[in-house]
Amino acid sequence: MPNGIFQVPPPINEPVKGYAPGSAEKATLKARLASMMAEEVEIPLIIGGKEVRTGKTGSAVCPHDHGHRLATFHQAGEAEVKAAIAAANAAWKDWSELPWSDRAGVFLKAAELLAGPWRDELNAATMLNQSKTVYQAEIDAAAELVDFWRFNTHYMRHLYEEQPSSAPGIWDFVEYRALEGFVFAVSPFNFTSIAGNLPTAPAMMGNTAVWKPASTAVLSGYVIMKILHAAGLPDGVINFLPGSGSTVGNPVLASPDLAGIHFTGSTPVFQHMWRTVGEQIADYKTYPRLVGETGGKDFVFAHASADVDALAVALVRGAFEYQGQKCSAASRGYIPKSLWPAVRDRVEAHIQAIKMGSPLDFTNFMAAVIDQSAFNDHKSAIEQARASADANVLFGGGTDDSEGYFVEPTVIEAADPLYTTMREELFGPILTLHVYDDARLDETLASCDTASAYGLTGAIFARDRFTIAKLSAALRHTAGNFYINDKPTGAVVGQQPFGGSRASGTNDKAGSVFNLLRWVSQRTVKETFVPPKDFRYPHMDES
Ligand code: NAD
Repeated sequence: MPNGIFQVPPPINEPVKGYAPGSAEKATLKARLASMMAEEVEIPLIIGGKEVRTGKTGSAVCPHDHGHRLATFHQAGEAEVKAAIAAANAAWKDWSELPWSDRAGVFLKAAELLAGPWRDELNAATMLNQSKTVYQAEIDAAAELVDFWRFNTHYMRHLYEEQPSSAPGIWDFVEYRALEGFVFAVSPFNFTSIAGNLPTAPAMMGNTAVWKPASTAVLSGYVIMKILHAAGLPDGVINFLPGSGSTVGNPVLASPDLAGIHFTGSTPVFQHMWRTVGEQIADYKTYPRLVGETGGKDFVFAHASADVDALAVALVRGAFEYQGQKCSAASRGYIPKSLWPAVRDRVEAHIQAIKMGSPLDFTNFMAAVIDQSAFNDHKSAIEQARASADANVLFGGGTDDSEGYFVEPTVIEAADPLYTTMREELFGPILTLHVYDDARLDETLASCDTASAYGLTGAIFARDRFTIAKLSAALRHTAGNFYINDKPTGAVVGQQPFGGSRASGTNDKAGSVFNLLRWVSQRTVKETFVPPKDFRYPHMDES
């Protein structure tokens, strides 16, 4: 270990670029988008730093133009999973024993590479393969991932500083060891930043990882691996295994060396993994740490004192940005009858002004949903609402998958506060609103609290301070990220640590010291300088 108690550069949130007409960033990104559209790359697995091709391939397409293939990716089978675990185990000793400042250097460098020369590459991959508009890609793939790497490095140092006190003649300290074994990182399609954070947060703390990206977001995952390689991450520390969930997941969970799972995705998949680990608990060398951020049924609750203009904007941005495919997206709303005509008019006007189409056209506010299966689910939820006596499709509802998977921004009005889409996650651009009688505030708050199994994000809109306090208290356990007079999306690393409870996850707050704490195993050391030489205590002398 070098002599010196190093600081890390004070983290600052990466500024979000505007991509305004005539800007330099717009010109370079447009150029990369055009060249990426003209390429078809082949994405290998990366095991122990080596590219592995299995010949069992899948296609990475543009959801807004599903006939266009961006890449072919190789998929892992059981043999590759075993090789990846072996590579993670082989890299573990050197990496876990490397001074923390050297590990920090890798991720600080990765942050600067992404903020600079790799920014267009990761933004373009995210826009094309995950169908994000330029702004949605920029706040995710560029800004948030840079923030994860800068802030986590800072939190790592902060965590290591947490030390016990020592009595006279004794020296106590805590060493934050890496977990013994490897961490399985499993990422969702919807955030490139989350995909980058899931394997790197444990790796920063000295662990090695096997990373399975979502099959609908492989291109951005591959770019992240290239950035980490360029930043000097040693071979085998993170092993990249695209492939089907169960084909990769089952052999990984069967490994006795599994030391942790860092998951973001849907609730049923995490529950399946937790159950599998539980069933095999006696087979592991250590108790695997289970960290999962999962689904949501995020709400906007308006009080009669709400500012209607702000409320309408929050509903529209919260529900429809990135086509509602954010775990934090507003998907249910409670609107008092006294405000309803004004809210309805404003929401309708905003929706009419929304442009939807390819992210290559920067004037679009929305693009396509991720794949055929998501499209089919949304279409069928809209058809069910049309057929239901308890619900009414107020705005939108149109769908078209001829070229891309397009679902219009849709508002359902539900007379029943327990209507299906007021309770269950849909993960698409569908907002369900329930209009409540102003006099039934308490009852409606109770319904908001209990209607869904989730507890991820929620927002209240009110001007009166007593009301804000009352609503905050009534909805205390409904959300791990709670917003007052703001939309329930858009958490920023270092500012609003993110995560929810109930069926939404273990609430270990991605991008915070609390998350990093899960990836270390503490060794408490007590050194006694002058140990006793007599076993007897004073009370043993009678006189
Ligand atoms: P998903 O659960 O379908 O997939 C997530 C990942 O799990 C993918 O990589 C998938 O291949 C993998 N997987 C599936 N079955 C598996 C198995 N048996 N073993 C191992 N891995 C398996 O989720 P998705 O559609 O990619 O993402 C959307 C979901 O993610 C939504 O429910 C959303 O709310 C949630 N999400 C939550 C947060 C949060 O912070 N709470 C953030 C983003 C997304």
